[in-house]
Amino acid sequence: MKDMIIKGGRIIDSARNMDKVGDIWISDGLIKSIGKDVSAPNAEVIDAKGKVVCPGFIDLHCHLRQPGFEQKETIATGTKAAARGGFTTVCCMPNTNPPIDNLPLVEYVKSVAEKEAVVRVLPIGCITRGRKGEELADMTEMAQAGVIGFSDDGSYVKNARMMRRAMEYSLPLGLPIIEHCEDPELAVDGVMNEGIIATRLGLCGIPNAAEEVAVARDIILAELTGARLHIAHVSTRGSVELIRQAKKRSVKVTAEVTPHHLTMTEEKVLGYNTNAKVNPPLRTQKDIDALIAGLKDGTIDIIATDHAPHTVNDKLCEFGMAASGISGLETALGSLMGLVHAGKLLLPLMVAKLTSEPSKILESKFGTLAVGSPADVTIFDPDADWTVEAEKFASKGKNTSLDGEKLKGKVMMTIYGGKVVHKE
Ligand SMILES: [Zn+2]
Repeated sequence: MKDMIIKGGRIIDSARNMDKVGDIWISDGLIKSIGKDVSAPNAEVIDAKGKVVCPGFIDLHCHLRQPGFEQKETIATGTKAAARGGFTTVCCMPNTNPPIDNLPLVEYVKSVAEKEAVVRVLPIGCITRGRKGEELADMTEMAQAGVIGFSDDGSYVKNARMMRRAMEYSLPLGLPIIEHCEDPELAVDGVMNEGIIATRLGLCGIPNAAEEVAVARDIILAELTGARLHIAHVSTRGSVELIRQAKKRSVKVTAEVTPHHLTMTEEKVLGYNTNAKVNPPLRTQKDIDALIAGLKDGTIDIIATDHAPHTVNDKLCEFGMAASGISGLETALGSLMGLVHAGKLLLPLMVAKLTSEPSKILESKFGTLAVGSPADVTIFDPDADWTVEAEKFASKGKNTSLDGEKLKGKVMMTIYGGKVVHKE
């Protein structure tokens, strides 16, 4: 592997509070040195003037759909999409078919990833067998096989006693329970946010309370057991407040928010736009404002995509029948940069929420440019204008409501372990 020098970029390494212009020398897949006027004979020089150079993004929540739903995505196509989006580590949810609920299935995902993935894939195992909520999955075995957490994502673990047991089992394993917080009884038949727009469209709504009731219960159980709880895709103002209060009491809770919940309101659904159908649903501006405030004060730890690719036919139907989810890996940076350009989010904080903060939850050595770290590096142009063309996504999932929209901020190069895996 040839040495590389990334020259003259704005280096943001939030793990070490670094934000300065400089050079990075990559050798043997590792960060060899970082500083001013770095030079190495025979190294390939990459000009990064005017660009941001930061650790490769880490996505704690995506759906790669393999095994079982290869028509929607595969580990190969999903990780290509990740590379295009600047992600060098992705954690994949186990709601596949069969669901990843035992050791051989974890090994399967890892072996496919080893052969076909272009970035690092870290699997998440189920909490309950078959995601049915009836008995615990083989959590210890899966932990030994290397899962980074447990989740029945797509479904809430309805039975509180089951969740308590799962938390107790997760404790000695040191891994988080990642919960899809949504009370299915309160959300029943709902297909979008409950409110005036749902009424106008004649669609059933999902109240904020469906999420908040679930968040509250799990916080209480995390407090009871001492387990690590990570709340997936927080979407409501009330959830942010519950998590804020829990953190004040030192409950071991962390939380994520998606780019779409930070940038789109329920109005996207107008016209029965199935590409804006997502679970939890897009909410209101008040919720968005609270989510951003939560990011700023540390209540919400990270940004994760919840990349949920679907086929055209999964979305080309009546709103109520359409699959939920947004293909998000390739538009994440551009969407988030919209918030930065609007003055709502500082650039270094956005980078932290995509790099050093998810690394903390993983307790990993990734997400930093410290000397000796794996050379996972993302170079993006914060000011590049581009138009989203879903047809050109590397992901099989073209399901985005941003198709044809202009974004400002584009990933120019993604380097994974010292190897260029995406280049504009
Ligand atoms: Zn979910």
